[in-house]
Amino acid sequence: KSVVAIVGRPNVGKSTIFNRLVGERISIVEDIPGVTRDRIYAQGEWLNTTFNIIDTGGIEIGDEPLLVQMREQAQVAIDEADVIIFMVNGRDGITGADDEVAKILYKSNKPVVLAVNKVDNPEMRENIYEFYSLGFGEPFPISGTHGLGLGDMLDAVVSHFPEKSFEEEDDLTIRFSLIGRPNVGKSSLVNALLGQERVIVSDIAGTTRDAIDTPFKKEDRDFVIIDTAGMRKKGKIYETTEKYSILRALKAIERSDVVLALIDAEEGIIEQDKKIAGYAHEAGKAVIIVVNKWDTVETDEKTMKEFEQKVRAHFQYLDYAPIVFLSAKTKKRIHTLLPQVLKASENHAKRVQTNVLNEVIMDALAMNPAPTVKGQRLKVFYAAQVSVKPPSFVVFVNEPELVHFSYERFLENRIREAFGFEGTPIKIFARKR
Ligand code: GDP
Repeated sequence: KSVVAIVGRPNVGKSTIFNRLVGERISIVEDIPGVTRDRIYAQGEWLNTTFNIIDTGGIEIGDEPLLVQMREQAQVAIDEADVIIFMVNGRDGITGADDEVAKILYKSNKPVVLAVNKVDNPEMRENIYEFYSLGFGEPFPISGTHGLGLGDMLDAVVSHFPEKSFEEEDDLTIRFSLIGRPNVGKSSLVNALLGQERVIVSDIAGTTRDAIDTPFKKEDRDFVIIDTAGMRKKGKIYETTEKYSILRALKAIERSDVVLALIDAEEGIIEQDKKIAGYAHEAGKAVIIVVNKWDTVETDEKTMKEFEQKVRAHFQYLDYAPIVFLSAKTKKRIHTLLPQVLKASENHAKRVQTNVLNEVIMDALAMNPAPTVKGQRLKVFYAAQVSVKPPSFVVFVNEPELVHFSYERFLENRIREAFGFEGTPIKIFARKR
């Protein structure tokens, strides 16, 4: 997916536009306990194209002076984005701070769309001409508060998206990433899987490393490890900004089919673990929970069951994710991991037969009819799988509002039992026929 970043000096209205571009989507995501959304990074949609959007204004770098903050935010945009929306304020004209941002953007080779915000009525359109002098071509007048002009601006943004790369089109390769808080053992596990000391491992949290994608073959299947250990890259912002490292993890997740969410068996589960794993779930990726450092735990016949129950209690929204216990250090049980990755990626890309799907849904309905609400009972006419990665289903009904969360869960469970979607989230949308 292409990445769009919004940059500009403070108070030009970046967050308002960000919220407008992603707002609808955020409000339709269900409320899952344990999942916190990072408001600086979200999905937007325009003309059947989905993209990720970053509000760099949300990246605050300690108590650095404003100018330094702006420079670093612009740098994030240049590093991470395919297209940059450079936002200025049509009521203020060009300010010195705008010039500063412009200077940094000149040096990047990224396409820049210049948006002049706070143009709330047609008379104010006169104000936009001076912005040609910034050197980014046609300025697009927009109004965040009134939602004006966004279509034309987005047309320009989308026109700059790169063509789908080869890499994305070949879908036989299984891409997976490892996520987890510092020191959970991501690099060690990458090394153990690749069988070589390719990545430097150290006891210091936040060791400097570079991001690496490593392809390898196992039993005739092609895998690529996307190493998020590289999210702690050289340079100040990478080290000081937690949000920025989250951004890099999110980008790795975005490129993955399967995400391994690592937990430290020695230290147990903390809030941060849930938050990080939640990103993979929200992105609709297949997820495997990996309990690392299992060598440090004194085990008897009950330990694993008990730990598993703890994991399940903490990660309720990941009830589909298998749990793998292993030690990256001693390599114990490491051979159990790749078969799970393979299975999860197959389920993630699985298509089911429409007639069988409809039988399953109709049986479910007959067995457990939906409760009547205000004298109305849910009728299901037809169901179809509309996409994969993750498998998504549309159920055509008499009234979508009659499909409550718990009933949707019930249908999901029936579909899972019938088709076996272990490791992958599935999505169900109710539509009015
Ligand atoms: P990362 O920050 O998530 O990449 O974590 P590292 O791979 O750098 O590992 C952090 C520390 O945990 C290092 O000292 C590793 O040797 C140690 N470690 C990693 N995996 C294991 C394991 O399975 N068992 C034990 N006992 N230590 C581990």
